Amino acid sequence: MRAPATGPLPRLRADASVLHADLDAFFASVEQLDKPSLRGKPVIVGGIGGRGVVATASYEARAFGVHSAMSSVEARARCPHGAFLAPRFAAYRNASAQVMALLRELSPLVEPLSLDEAFVDLAAGEHDRAERQSLSPAAVEAIAGELKARVRQATGLTVSVGAGTSKLVAKVASDLDKPDGLRIVAPGEETALLHPLPISQLPGVGPATSARLRSIGVGTVGDLAALPESDAVGLLGRAHGRGLWLLAQGLDDRRVTPDRESKSVSVEDTFDVDIADPTRLTSIVEEMARRVVHRLRSAGLSGRTVSVKIRLQEFTTLTRSATLPAPTDDMRAVARLARQLLTEADTSGGVRLLGVGVSGLADWTQDDLFRSLSAGDPPSAAQPGDPGDAVDRATPAGPAEPRAARWLPGQDVVHADLGAGWVQGSGAGWVTVRFETRALGRPGPVRSFRVADPQLTPAPPAGPPGG
Ligand SMILES: [Mg+2]
Repeated sequence: MRAPATGPLPRLRADASVLHADLDAFFASVEQLDKPSLRGKPVIVGGIGGRGVVATASYEARAFGVHSAMSSVEARARCPHGAFLAPRFAAYRNASAQVMALLRELSPLVEPLSLDEAFVDLAAGEHDRAERQSLSPAAVEAIAGELKARVRQATGLTVSVGAGTSKLVAKVASDLDKPDGLRIVAPGEETALLHPLPISQLPGVGPATSARLRSIGVGTVGDLAALPESDAVGLLGRAHGRGLWLLAQGLDDRRVTPDRESKSVSVEDTFDVDIADPTRLTSIVEEMARRVVHRLRSAGLSGRTVSVKIRLQEFTTLTRSATLPAPTDDMRAVARLARQLLTEADTSGGVRLLGVGVSGLADWTQDDLFRSLSAGDPPSAAQPGDPGDAVDRATPAGPAEPRAARWLPGQDVVHADLGAGWVQGSGAGWVTVRFETRALGRPGPVRSFRVADPQLTPAPPAGPPGG
């Protein structure tokens, strides 16, 4: 410890038993598996409209300087020959579910961060109960290596794995040898790993905090660790300053928490007098939606499930929620859904407390992607209380729905005679389909059809894992 601390210090676990698994170029990798002609080629999954952003670029596309969160326009300029595909969330959810199931075989404590990323607490798994010494760095490396092999066998995907004595170290480690990485940081080696990193690598260090730290000459994690704790607290406040200072020392005892519902951002207010005026309630809910979205954005998060909590006069508390097809941090989308949920409760007798929350958090935003994926299907069509239904209805529509004008690049289709394929492109009244599947294993033939060809229909959403 470089400097004395003002409070009790978190205790690090003795084993490198926190594991972080992160699928490599996840969306793009799924596309390359399902579309053999794209294997080894630059693939960019994202919003395909003028305002779209890149969700994932394959490593081949990254070589051209394309990366996630870049505008699709910019990505096209850098990599004009790349395959630009609309996302197929049903396929990604299925692959994700298979990987999460494999992680849960290692331990009941699995904390998904997004579709392609999760922490696993190996200390809660079988290995530990069998024999304590089995969680040596070498044993963790063997577990991680076996996990990588099983993920590849089950899904065809590569996953980068890091492990260490804390979430912070595990997450940093999983990024070190990407793609297909495997890095175990042995107990005692934490600060050697962390200290050279730029300060922005610490969770909770956004541009503003980073700028403040730089203003006092702190550029790396090690610089922060070398400060007296009181300086960090003086600059950043007690909770934030102390939290970051401890992380910089490698002292991170954040637990792996499998409860996804606890990962939410919400605001609520109790009123002095019950409110029954629907106009007033609506404006309160809108204001709360604004506050929630502001907090989401400042944490760099987005969420899929919007909830409204309503405590009625007689202390009955109702919760209404609806799930969007993809994470959003769009103020209007959250406010619209919250308003709608409010109208579904009988508030005529007066409301004592109102709350708005967003859960199902992710560290990415797919609003533009979703808009281009399902133009014409407002996200607010979600069914309260039945998130699964809402999710399924967000995937490309079934064959019954006429949608000839909306063929999206990457979309799965079925031709009555030629079988399964995917849309390579469309325009001027024509749609081009490549007839290939993962099972085919090699590039398939390409054919063009009139967009309204009745023999061509969208494929149903992919089935559940293993199905
Ligand atoms: Mg990833």
